[in-house]
Amino acid sequence: MRVLVTGGAGFIGSHLCETLLLDGHEVICADNLFTSTKENIYSFLAHPRFEFLRHDIIHPLFVEVDQIYNMACPASPIHYQYNPVKTVKTNVIGTLYMLGLAKLVTARILQASTSEVYGDPQVHPQKEDYWGFVNPIGPRSCYDEGKRVAETLMMDYHRQNGVEVRIARIFNTYGPRMSVDDGRVVSNLIVQALKGEPLTLYGDGEQTRSFCFVSDLVLGLKALMDQDSTIGPVNLGNPHEITIRELAETILELTESSSGIEYRPLPVDDPVRRRPDISRARDILGWEPRVGLREGLAATVDYFRSHLES
Ligand code: UDP
Repeated sequence: MRVLVTGGAGFIGSHLCETLLLDGHEVICADNLFTSTKENIYSFLAHPRFEFLRHDIIHPLFVEVDQIYNMACPASPIHYQYNPVKTVKTNVIGTLYMLGLAKLVTARILQASTSEVYGDPQVHPQKEDYWGFVNPIGPRSCYDEGKRVAETLMMDYHRQNGVEVRIARIFNTYGPRMSVDDGRVVSNLIVQALKGEPLTLYGDGEQTRSFCFVSDLVLGLKALMDQDSTIGPVNLGNPHEITIRELAETILELTESSSGIEYRPLPVDDPVRRRPDISRARDILGWEPRVGLREGLAATVDYFRSHLES
């Protein structure tokens, strides 16, 4: 098949492109390189079935494809809040254009949605039928509400135009190719530990997240795209929930770092707890994460170590 991956030079997008190439597909990667980098796709840039387009999805794009993975959008809170209007445009106008393309060329389209659609959840763990608790006017809203509208657009194109859609709600994901300075907790803490700088814990570090290794996530995305029984939404994430303090301790241990801890104020609207209920993914896709946290973190530490050295 010919597959378009928007945001294909990003952290998750680049792993997805690489896996799709290994599966034998022709891959078109569209990316504006706003928060991503060509370095992420460097190892397969010259592959005969790979094509890179520097393209921003807030402008129309026409390519003949069979599948579209709409992954494009800055995903770290620092990056998506840097230009919040652009974040909304990417999620609303960008998704509209991608859905228009899917309709025109009769492609199946998968939307990279997010656990942020649940906001600061009042239900725990989060199931797909929970409608969420989202602040519509806060600093995270450009991303949270943007992604919620993207889901709405997917469902409306499906109901109104019969477009074949798939919605994946992606929970915290980590692994090689996260950018050193993207401000997310896993990259921040590993880089700080490797540099011998204090690890920054926001708030008291008792807030929780559940971290999924990127190779597991990519398998989940493909499983959702390639099956015919559900359009979603389907939660994709690792249900192993830990506090941010525990994460920091594990990173200190794996890096054998003597860094201390530095407490910083908790960002506005920072969710207190987050853990996916993945029963739907297990039942319908036969998918669940296989890589444990320590194993995944060790691979990520190796990546950042060699990245920092180079
Ligand atoms: N966090 C932290 N130190 C950091 C970066 C993040 O304690 O250097 C916290 C952040 O406040 C949040 C959690 O770690 O509670 C996860 O943050 P991240 O930005 O990775 O993603 P989020 O799940 O909030 O979108």
